[in-house]
Order: sequence, then C-alpha cells, then structure tokens
Amino acid sequence: MELKKRVSDREQDPEIRRTNFDEVCLGYSEEDAVAEAKRCLHCKKPLCVTQCPVSINIPVFINHIKKRKFEKAARVIAESSSLPAVCGRVCPQESQCEERCVLGKKGDAVAIGKLERFVADWSRENNIDLSQTLPKNGRKVAVIGAGPSGLSCAGDLAKLGYEVTIFEALHKAGGVLVYGIPEFRLPKDTVVQHEVDNVKALGVKIETNVIIGRTVTLDELIHQEGFEAVFIGSGAGLPMFMNIPGENSNGVFSANEFLTRNNLMKAFKEGYDTPIRAGKKVAVVGGGNVAMDAARTALRLGAEVHIVYRRSQAELPARAEEVHHAIEEGIIFDLLCNPVEILADEKGWVKGIRCIRMELGEPDASGRRRPVEIPGSEFEIEVDTVIMSLGTTPNPLISSTTRGLEANRKGCLIAAEETGKTTLEGVFAGGDAVTGAATVILAMGAGKKAAVAIDAYLKNR
Ligand SMILES: Cc1cc2nc3c(=O)[nH]c(=O)nc-3n(C[C@H](O)[C@H](O)[C@H](O)COP(=O)(O)OP(=O)(O)OC[C@H]3O[C@@H](n4cnc5c(N)ncnc54)[C@H](O)[C@@H]3O)c2cc1C
Ligand code: SF4
Repeated sequence: MELKKRVSDREQDPEIRRTNFDEVCLGYSEEDAVAEAKRCLHCKKPLCVTQCPVSINIPVFINHIKKRKFEKAARVIAESSSLPAVCGRVCPQESQCEERCVLGKKGDAVAIGKLERFVADWSRENNIDLSQTLPKNGRKVAVIGAGPSGLSCAGDLAKLGYEVTIFEALHKAGGVLVYGIPEFRLPKDTVVQHEVDNVKALGVKIETNVIIGRTVTLDELIHQEGFEAVFIGSGAGLPMFMNIPGENSNGVFSANEFLTRNNLMKAFKEGYDTPIRAGKKVAVVGGGNVAMDAARTALRLGAEVHIVYRRSQAELPARAEEVHHAIEEGIIFDLLCNPVEILADEKGWVKGIRCIRMELGEPDASGRRRPVEIPGSEFEIEVDTVIMSLGTTPNPLISSTTRGLEANRKGCLIAAEETGKTTLEGVFAGGDAVTGAATVILAMGAGKKAAVAIDAYLKNR
C-alpha cells in the first residue's frame, strides 16, 4: 500500500447522478476503511484532534477500525459527537482535522471524515445502541431549534440527567440538515433521521411546529413553564438580497426558499404537491456551499445552470470537493461578473440578468482580493429563474421579543465564546444564531460548550 495516497472512495458517475437525487459519494467499503485506517501513524501528540471543534479522539477510533473493532470505534466517536454520519459527510475536514494531519505534509492526509462516516453508517446498519445516560435529575432545560447546535446541546444535557425539551419551528427536526443541504449530499430519511432519533433515545423531547417568539415567548418558557435554563440554537435562516432593480420579479428565489421547497417539502419527488419552478435556464448568484447546492439541485430538476460569481475560481468560498462535483456535473461558472439588474417581461417574469464584468484589485478585510467593476462592460445573460445565494443572517424574532437579550448590528446574539452565556441570566446561545452562517461542526461545538456551562450554572443555583 502506498502511504502517501489515500484510498479513494466510490462515487456515482457524474452523467448518471446529474439526473437523480441519490447520494453522490458512496463511502468506503469495509476493506477500503481498514486499508485507509492503516495509513494513520497514531501520533503521540495528534494534531488532528486539536483541530476538531468537538475533540473526537481520532487516532483511537482509527486504531479500532484498523483492528476491525467497528463498534468500539463508534463508541469512541459517540463520546464527542452525536451526529457522526452527518459530519462524516458534510464537515469541511480539509480545513480542520485533515489540515493538521502529519501525513498531509508529504502526501494525502488520512481521510478522517470518510472513516468517521464509515463507522457511523456501520453502526446504523448494525443497530448499535450508543445511548448512555445518567438517571434523570428532574431539572428542566429548554432548547430552541433542532439544528446541529440544539441537538448537540440537548443530547449532552440529557446524558447528564436533565429533562430537555427542544422547541422547533418547522415540522421536522434537523435544521439546515433537513431543509438546506440536499438529499444527494446528505440523505434525510436514513442518515439525518437516524441521528435525530439517537438524540431522542437519550430522552430528549422534540416539540415541532412551535415558534419561540410567536407560539410562546422565551420569558414564558422560564416564568410559566418551569424551564430553569434555555439554550438558543435558532440558526441564521434570514436570506440576504442584493437590492438591485428587478429583484422582486417572478422567478427570483432566495437559495433558502428554493432548497427548502425541494428538500423539506420534497418538491423533487413525484406524489408531493409543493410547487417548484426550476425553469429551463437558471442563474445562481453567489459562490458558497449554498450556491453549489442550489445549482446542483436546479440541474437535477432539468435546468441549464450558471453560477454567477464576482471573484475568480480561486476565491470561491465553497468546499473544493463541492466545486469539483459541480463542474463534473456540468454547472457553468460565469466568474468575475456581478448582476446589476434582473430583467423581467411585461408580465413580471424573469427573462434575464444584466451583469457587469469585474477584475480583482487589492485584498480586502477578508484577505481575498476585492472585485472591482470594469466600466462599460455590462452584458446580459438570458435566464428564466434567478436564485440568490448571498448569505443569511439570524432571524431577529427571538431577540426582538425577549427583553434583555442583546444582539449585535448584524442580528447575531451576543454570547460568550467559551460558555454561550448571553446577556440574560440563565439563557445561553450558540451556532449560527451567534456566529452568523458557519458550519455544522462549529455549531455542534458551541452546543456542547453551552451544555457544560448550563450544567455548571444549574449546579450552582
Ligand atoms: C444549503 C446549505 C448548505 C450547507 N452546507 C454545509 C456543509 O456542507 N458543511 C457544513 O459544515 N455546513 C454547511 N452549511 C452550514 C450549516 O448547515 C450550519 O452552519 C448549521 O446547520 C448551523 O447549525 P445551527 O444549529 O446553528 O442552526 P440551524 O441548522 O439553522 O438550525 C436552527 C433551527 O432552529 C429553528 N428555529 C429558528 N427560529 C426558531 C424559533 N423562533 N423557534 C423555534 N425554532 C426556531 C430552525 O427552524 C432550525 O431548525 C450549509 C448551510 C446551508 C444553508
Ligand atoms: S495526525 Fe494524521 S496520522 Fe497523526 S493521528 Fe491524526 S490522523 Fe493519524
């Protein structure tokens, strides 16, 4: 076996997968996983672990895989993560654990994410019960939002004996994992639902269709319903727009709406009646993971899809793997151009976008080179649908209905980084609601830190 190269995993052929919503990556077989695990050097000071936001004991779980002790590997991961099959699929490992792997200095880093996914899938397929809890202590904690931060916080508190109820606005638990990330990257009914069920198996109650700030307020949870502490993990679901002429024409979507209709409301499946209009020719504006997901979804619904992005390919914020998959599937990248107007026909339906060409200037505050308009370079692209994927911010509903709960200028809740403590006694927060749109594993890390802080807070009361 060559130590420098990782074992490659299996994928659906691009020509076939662009016509279906089945998972693109098929993961490792048992033999592949064991072979890849054998590459790990089991470093005494494993740098990979220092870069994992939930501190999974990576060399130990990989060592179990090497010895084909898959259940033991699953138990090691379960000590730190309640969503391993999710993280094994969608975490940006290349900029976290794998970035620090020593093997990466001279060759490929160990495929930590793919090994995590293998173990999680194996334990699901073999019905391994990983739930371990302390006896219930009778103390009630409320969690707002059933995304990765809320599920992680709730799971850890339940393990410590707290009676945890999650209040979720939508009809299904999972947050972005069910409404945002498409089926072809993260299967819902098998993978996500199973990990939500594992959290429930710890004794966590999930009440869906409850919007905190509308159905019931945060104050009422504390003063009338007897919750002694609250964790807010309400995410960042409010889409941003460009505020250019024509943006409210028929056929302009936010990526969130487009993906929610498809993922959560199953618009892509026969037998479901949620309307969706992918059109024949679609422009997706933006270059992040969300833009790639919207583009690849529209492609699977039968459209020709253009990504319109104002910088060059090198600055695309999406994961390299997602860009690679998008290119393989036939997404067209219109780079270094920015929309200035959305054009509509006499009935108000989108018929095109007017763009201006850009060039790269000096780096801005983010370190990326700033895009600068080239005067007089406007041109039009004929499209019938535009999907805006320019980022999201937290919804102000909870902060605006809770006196004393402060948010910053961008609508992000103010909370201490190490504990999640907000400006309101007994109320903690984490994940995208605090940081703005970020990643699954950072949201989980924040939920776990808050669980430790809530436990300490309640023990001292
Ligand atoms: C399309 C898309 C693709 C992405 N791809 C990746 C990826 O590949 N890798 C990665 O690491 N990250 C990815 N992300 C980002 C990642 O999903 C988020 O950072 C993560 O889900 C944040 O978790 P969270 O728990 O903070 O919030 P969320 O997942 O947003 O969950 C918040 C939950 O709170 C609920 N809620 C909101 N307000 C209320 C209220 N008032 N009352 C009750 N419930 C409420 C919401 O309905 C939601 O279920 C992606 C995001 C999107 C949108
Ligand atoms: S840094 Fe790489 S080689 Fe070392 S323990 Fe972690 S995964 Fe294994």
